[in-house]
Amino acid sequence: MKRVTGPGRRAGESVFKTAWQTVTGVEPVESFPYSAPREGVLGPEMVRSGCNICFNSCSTRVYRRGDRVVTITGNPDDPVTGGHLCPKSQFLMQMYYSEHRVLHPQRRVGRRGEGRFERVSWDEALDGIAEKLLRVRERYGSEALAVFTGSRSGLLGLDGTAQLFCQLWGTANHSGTNPFCGTAPDLAFLMTHGVEAGGSGNIFAEDDVWAGDLYIFLGDNMAETRPVNFGQLNERRLRRGARMVVLDPRRTVTAQKADEWLPIRPGTDLAFALGCLHHVFSHDLVDREFVASWVEGADRVKEFILGRGYTPEWAEPITDIPAATIRRLAEEYARTPRAFILGNRGLSQHTNATQTFRALIMLAAVTGHYGKKGAGVLAITSAVPIQARAPADRVAPRRPAARRSPAGWIEAMVSGKPYPIRALIMTGNPLSLWPGQAALREGIEKQEVVAHIELFPSESSAWADYLLPAATGIEVGEINRYAEDRRIVWIEKVIEPPGECRPDIWIWIELGKRLGMKDVLKEEYKDPVRLWDETMREDPRFRGLSHARLKASPTGWLRWPILSEDGPSAETLFLEGS
Ligand code: SF4
Repeated sequence: MKRVTGPGRRAGESVFKTAWQTVTGVEPVESFPYSAPREGVLGPEMVRSGCNICFNSCSTRVYRRGDRVVTITGNPDDPVTGGHLCPKSQFLMQMYYSEHRVLHPQRRVGRRGEGRFERVSWDEALDGIAEKLLRVRERYGSEALAVFTGSRSGLLGLDGTAQLFCQLWGTANHSGTNPFCGTAPDLAFLMTHGVEAGGSGNIFAEDDVWAGDLYIFLGDNMAETRPVNFGQLNERRLRRGARMVVLDPRRTVTAQKADEWLPIRPGTDLAFALGCLHHVFSHDLVDREFVASWVEGADRVKEFILGRGYTPEWAEPITDIPAATIRRLAEEYARTPRAFILGNRGLSQHTNATQTFRALIMLAAVTGHYGKKGAGVLAITSAVPIQARAPADRVAPRRPAARRSPAGWIEAMVSGKPYPIRALIMTGNPLSLWPGQAALREGIEKQEVVAHIELFPSESSAWADYLLPAATGIEVGEINRYAEDRRIVWIEKVIEPPGECRPDIWIWIELGKRLGMKDVLKEEYKDPVRLWDETMREDPRFRGLSHARLKASPTGWLRWPILSEDGPSAETLFLEGS
């Protein structure tokens, strides 16, 4: 199709307006698309799809006119979103029509960091990368390759083709963004809930989360980060008169919506949770019946908390929250049967994150806030058990990862300890986002090959040897998952990628072909439907989540686990008495 490029923006003119005018030739209203009249805005052809800009996984309706996407709206048949989308969804169109998009494979011509490239063909780029990878493997071993796949790669790229590639190549140095954000709650849930819950807190459906009488948010700015779900929750809790308390160092948008905002000192949520636990144990606020039936080890937790003297008075100078407030909140929480704790990135990016989540989960458990609707601990986690696995006889032997977190790879890049990393394939923007940027640049200089797969040029591209143009979810066909309530959304392909952009799965398969992997990274898996159905649903909990069923679902999603092809979609897990 013809690539559409805008005429360039004038000062004060919005990106949306430029794209809209260019695509449709229709004069837009000022705040396109939110106050635009529906008539004439919706294209004649509608495709049901989804948004993967964030993990809210909103289902969408994408309207086309000919081969152009003209409007993206919410899906009114989706009970979770209620047909709403947030403004970020419109970036799907903006990304497609952006004049800044990387459209062709490029090879570095300047120094690393300069960002000077020449256009090359896909064959030249992939042949060049493959040749250098083989040289690195010969000199340093297969573990000298590190692969970082950020969330933009999508689940099929990240946990599908990139996984298979690394298994066949023989490197354990493959990671997404989890170690920076999701690993702490994952571990805490695994240690407290056990593996039955998928090693995570993913046990809820939307009517659990909406049914609380008290919501305590810690380090979770849901109103800005998952606005659609927050809107649904907030609307219902206001109708029911449910109270909302936000502990956050900043007066976030979420805090502004709350009944009470408690500015807590950063990184001290663990002390707050311990202070609450102390008050609960020392004031007979334990739900004895629930604990006797469902909780193991509560006595040992009590002994530990009381023995260490983690009183609210102890927590006050650490958290900056008065002891009396901690006592009042602990009391209110323990006495409110349907109460939710929501904790997120504001907790999980501190060094004490795993223990903070454990303490909050223990607080919920000893006060009986599990096993019923409207109660629990909710945190975005990444532990959705979807992962492609190569046949056992094709998995190459590999050394343990240099470190589990990509931030730990920098040491291996710079000093060669515990072994050298000398090749990096990355998506996202590590050269802006990883900690230790100066050391990372030093490590990058020592790489024999660096490839960057992305939509737009960034600081990371500037340091790469090859820049490979990727495609977005709606240009590919993709899966997104909502970590909080186990929704799996199929994002239907609605438009061809612009220029020479290619899906991440295509890039990994083509690179694999050059390295003797075509028996596993098969040509036919360039079709995302076949990749999903044939390689990524081995876990019995995903047996019923075929592409055909996802596509047929009027909501645009299904909730795992579904144990057989025609089995029911699961709702709340582990309801007492179920
Ligand atoms: S909340 Fe997230 S998934 Fe939903 S429309 Fe906004 S960016 Fe997309």
